[in-house]
Amino acid sequence: MDLYEYQGKQYFARFGIPVSAGGAADTVDEAVARAEEVGYPVVVKAQVKVGGRGKAGGIKLAADAGEVRAHASAILGMDIKGHVVHRVWIERSSDIAREYYASFTLDRTAKKHLCMVSAKGGVDIEEVAATDPGAIARRHVDPVDGLSAAAAAELVAEAGLDEEARAQAAALLVKLYTCYVEGDCDLAEVNPLILTTDGRVHALDAKVTLDDNAAFRHPEWEEFAGTETSDPREKLAKEKGLQYVGLDGFVGIIANGAGLAMSTCDVVEQVGGEPANFLDIGGGANAAQMANALEVINSDENVRSIFINIFGGITRGEEVANGIVEAMGRVDISSPIVIRLDGTNAEEGRRILADQASGRLESVPTMIEAARRATELARGDER
Ligand code: GDP
Ligand code: MG
Repeated sequence: MDLYEYQGKQYFARFGIPVSAGGAADTVDEAVARAEEVGYPVVVKAQVKVGGRGKAGGIKLAADAGEVRAHASAILGMDIKGHVVHRVWIERSSDIAREYYASFTLDRTAKKHLCMVSAKGGVDIEEVAATDPGAIARRHVDPVDGLSAAAAAELVAEAGLDEEARAQAAALLVKLYTCYVEGDCDLAEVNPLILTTDGRVHALDAKVTLDDNAAFRHPEWEEFAGTETSDPREKLAKEKGLQYVGLDGFVGIIANGAGLAMSTCDVVEQVGGEPANFLDIGGGANAAQMANALEVINSDENVRSIFINIFGGITRGEEVANGIVEAMGRVDISSPIVIRLDGTNAEEGRRILADQASGRLESVPTMIEAARRATELARGDER
């Protein structure tokens, strides 16, 4: 799970990493109220889970309430690389002397944690890595040994951080490592890590990815999960434990297995349709799961046909067919359904569907034909 910057900063603060004081706001009035609390000048920062907000105009300095009002109304509702801004973070503005970079992430090939530090911060780190790789100091950290104060000091020196920043930056690095390990992050990145004109080092930005596999250890992560998505379809799917991603099209898709679900989206695109979603119903594909999947897709107003694509392996065709029949009894579906059922016991499954669900769904033997038929039905140009 990716955190918003303000959540990442609050996470950092728990581990003693210095960040600026601030507050989140969902409206212009709230933004002004937060600014009054924090004290001017402030920075108004778009909260979206994508980098490069500064370049996109999502980060603005404000000297007084009037400027906060102007910037907050421009930024709230702004679209940054496809992410609409619903919240801003208002923090006390910092006077920046230098911008650095620091991060911890997992190097899966080396089976070790990887720390990266650079004196070239505030810019896209991938670009620095491509154009000036020598500007990034890297060190693997053995998870058993951890990051010593001495190793952190070496790293910041090697990265060429200014003398006056080094001691504080090294101490911050050790805390960031603790946050990364004890806080169960996949990524803890600070860009920029700044040296202020009055000689303080602190985190001006925060990019944190939590390791979802560790969620059982962190009941406090619940507060982050609630704000994760604003798509009502995705919220409903999450409640029902489905692997669902909402898309913009009109053909609802249900498949068993993530790979098949992705290729189903591709095939629908290929025949001129537009997938309304990705949905992997999982291996079992029983009646309860099928009913849940149909309910989520049915809640999507843009859906005009549903394509169920099941390839039976361990899941047997007749089980899937019975699941669909039962699910159709439970959920009142508003769109026509096209099913392609293949694999183990497919014939028996098709027979069940023909006996008990004909008239409400069409069985089509191949994936491409089924995609065509679903697209055709959605477009309303039935033969
Ligand atoms: P990003 O563009 O999404 O990575 O957002 P950042 O939080 O990293 O901010 C982008 C840039 O805005 C930083 O590199 C700074 O140059 C600038 N910026 C952010 N906060 C402040 C601040 O408090 N004071 C000043 N002067 N500049 C800031
Ligand atoms: Mg940044």
